[in-house]
Amino acid sequence: MRNIREIIVHCTATKAGRNVAVAEIDSWHKARGWRGIGYHYVVMLDGSVSVGRSELSIGAHCLGRNSTSIGVVYVGGLDNDGVPCDTRTEAQKAGLLRILVELLKKYPWAKIYGHRDFSPTACPCFDARREYGHLMPPTTER
Ligand SMILES: [Zn+2]
Repeated sequence: MRNIREIIVHCTATKAGRNVAVAEIDSWHKARGWRGIGYHYVVMLDGSVSVGRSELSIGAHCLGRNSTSIGVVYVGGLDNDGVPCDTRTEAQKAGLLRILVELLKKYPWAKIYGHRDFSPTACPCFDARREYGHLMPPTTER
């Protein structure tokens, strides 16, 4: 088992309303020379959650944090002009919450972050620590 310390939220940086399949992300990441999709879970526009890379495998989504984290991405993150924007649908917000709660049950010591907490990026275009902070048990460690 990997020692999971972070659950890191991302966006696909695609325009609002555009559907993106796991296979498409897989092809983007293969084109970068990776083994395939770098995220572990993908939250679709309709809120359904698809499995990407196996949780048991180290992901490719956040430089310096991959070995200790799970990567969760929602489809979207850009407005119609291509500007970073929280484009999550209500169904996606629910789907994202569902997978994060599930992961915290499995990894109760893990903390939720957004990609931007570790890198100079807008991703995932909202404050994941603030939005999901209440899910994590209050301890002085956090
Ligand atoms: Zn990201």
